[in-house]
Amino acid sequence: MDIINILPDSVANQIAAGEVVDRPASAVKELLENAMDAGATQIDLVVKDAGRTLIQVVDNGCGMSDSDARLCFERHATSKIHRADDLFAIQTMGFRGEALASIAAIAQVELRTRMHDSELGTQVVIEGSQIVGQQPMACAPGTSLAVKNLFFNVPARRNFLKKDSVELSHIEEVFRRVTLIHYDLGFSLTSNGRLLYDLQAGSMLQRIAGLYGNHYKERFFNVEEETDIVKIKGFVGKPDYARKTRGEQYLFVNGRFIKHPALSAAVEKAYSDLLPDHSYPSYFIGLQVDPARIDINIHPTKTEVKFVDEHAMFAILRSAVKKALGQFTLATELEFDTPEEFNIPPAPKGYVPPAPRISYNPDYNPFAGAKGNDKGTKRSEKDAMADTIPLGDDTNMLSIPLAPAPTPSLPANSCLQVQGRYIVTSLSSGLAIIDQQRAHERVLYERLTQQASLAPTSQALLFPVNCQFSAADAELFGELLPDLREYGFAIDPVGQCTFVVTATPADMKESELQGSFDSILTDYKSSTLQKYSNRTQTLCASLARQMAVKAGTVLGQEEMQQLVADLFSCPMPETSPSGKRIITVVKPEEILK
Ligand code: ADP
Ligand code: MG
Repeated sequence: MDIINILPDSVANQIAAGEVVDRPASAVKELLENAMDAGATQIDLVVKDAGRTLIQVVDNGCGMSDSDARLCFERHATSKIHRADDLFAIQTMGFRGEALASIAAIAQVELRTRMHDSELGTQVVIEGSQIVGQQPMACAPGTSLAVKNLFFNVPARRNFLKKDSVELSHIEEVFRRVTLIHYDLGFSLTSNGRLLYDLQAGSMLQRIAGLYGNHYKERFFNVEEETDIVKIKGFVGKPDYARKTRGEQYLFVNGRFIKHPALSAAVEKAYSDLLPDHSYPSYFIGLQVDPARIDINIHPTKTEVKFVDEHAMFAILRSAVKKALGQFTLATELEFDTPEEFNIPPAPKGYVPPAPRISYNPDYNPFAGAKGNDKGTKRSEKDAMADTIPLGDDTNMLSIPLAPAPTPSLPANSCLQVQGRYIVTSLSSGLAIIDQQRAHERVLYERLTQQASLAPTSQALLFPVNCQFSAADAELFGELLPDLREYGFAIDPVGQCTFVVTATPADMKESELQGSFDSILTDYKSSTLQKYSNRTQTLCASLARQMAVKAGTVLGQEEMQQLVADLFSCPMPETSPSGKRIITVVKPEEILK
């Protein structure tokens, strides 16, 4: 008895849909790619309920003829390749002719399309692979494709969808992957009637700023390289902005987002010495290669590719990024963790840092003077000299130890500031080089985590400051308000996306409020994507980083001693809250050498 039968198209399409469309974000990706393939210059994406009830993409591309408007929903229906050979010269985003057939199998789809030289367009309605109507329709040139009630006939899939905030963040990620590299096209994203992004065509850096905020513009170095094998163009993050997660790492090949562990490793290798362990650079890098020398056909969603010249590409990419970072390495020859011999082993278990010999007031803020006027940072050349060169008559700076010191030589000594970013002082174990910014971060972090229970040290602003966010960020910021108030901020919403700040913690710089909040939001977003994270800790670390005195700020003798003393009273003086090394000790033997 024969038992094999051929599945009807609608079933075959539904099975194929399982591969191509597993969640709203993957339908979004296919529709955006189709719009780009159609030569659109403006592409508008509208979603409702994170794509569950509606995903609509409207483009001003070439449009389709009446019969193509029907045919496009057939499986293996594509205008992009004609023969097998074409597979080796793919210039378009799509080519499988699967997406629309798959989407139409699992949703109610409404297509309206009009070619630019036609007077009238056409509308096709299709549900579960069945065409339920086609009629001429007056519409703008281009195509509008609306996908309604995704998975309406596949309850199992529908039930697997995560809550709206998760599905929407997947959609936003797809939107970033597409828009970051197609910065020459205009895009918008509207969710539940709110315009989240409105991106004008422009440069890659403008696109990055459009997606992440204007403050991102200063965070990157430009990478550019042209060889016979590959053309590289993009931006790599300055090491100071490295993150604890691999969040913002984007590689593109021929206009397509890809995942390529080896090439990502090439980028990270270029940073090798510049970043501490478990810290990752951000980057947005576009590669252009001969389509005949890549294979993008190895994965249905096409994020994996193979390169014929992988080894050469690795080397070229690494050296291009190294070159871009060169400006940085030169400026910081004394970067921590670089030479092997500079490392000290972490403090042994149970080690309690010796008490500082000078008395200090835990509430005293050495940098409060920097607020409002520029006194603390911009001092006269002469003052700076006096502070950074040890004059040998600093005895007046030493106060009498409160308790007998447990060990002889402790951070009561005079300090020397090097390159405006390191404090050098002597410890019993040797010469300590302390990164002033990281040290201050640690001190502030400890103060903040304790402050949640104490009364915050708040300072009223002379003039209230308005801060503005995108709709999505404003919502998140609203979530953070109660915490921020605990740390001494007085913030209130005014309107949908604006907040007015009337008081800040003492260390916060007024002029940097917007940038600081933007960074705090970025940290907050990346921490909510992590499985294990403590909201308070993340926020405190983030705030501390914003408030810390920056490298390049000249510190007075007293300020340095206070900072060193404060640092040594912290439970973990050797690493910053973000896990970076604060202190490096050059041992006496090494000094001898
Ligand atoms: P593929 O993109 O792999 O060709 P799709 O199923 O995504 O397959 O699309 C099928 C065909 O429908 C495309 O090849 C194209 O000719 C046509 N098409 C799809 N979307 C659009 C659009 N937005 N504008 C014009 N034509 C489109
Ligand atoms: Mg397609």
